[in-house]
Amino acid sequence: MAEKLLNWDEVLIGATIKDPGNSKSYETGSWRVERPVWNPDTCIQCMFCWVYCPDSSILVDENGKMAGIDYDHCKGCGICVEQCPTKPKSLKMILESEAKGKTLKELRKEAFSK
Ligand code: SF4
Ligand code: SF4
Repeated sequence: MAEKLLNWDEVLIGATIKDPGNSKSYETGSWRVERPVWNPDTCIQCMFCWVYCPDSSILVDENGKMAGIDYDHCKGCGICVEQCPTKPKSLKMILESEAKGKTLKELRKEAFSK
């Protein structure tokens, strides 16, 4: 929902930004052209993807293990895929246009059975 705009007399002098906001409040995942798909079967839990993700979009479970991707915020930069050390890689980028309407299970099967 759109935020209510301030009246002129409610704006701080010098346009000071009181609340800088946070990307967590915005679904930046809608910017994505490609998405990473994770293969838990080959993942060695090194957490390089978590360290390098610039958007904190690698999900971690209560045991500190990689648990998937936060697609609401992942911008699809592909850095996690570049950093993943397994051979074959445990993360693969796929086009959003190809992911449309498919379940994660179907995407994993497509991405990692080639
Ligand atoms: S594609 Fe980029 S933003 Fe998305 S999870 Fe990987 S490193 Fe993070
Ligand atoms: S970088 Fe690759 S192997 Fe390491 S935790 Fe992430 S997906 Fe798993």
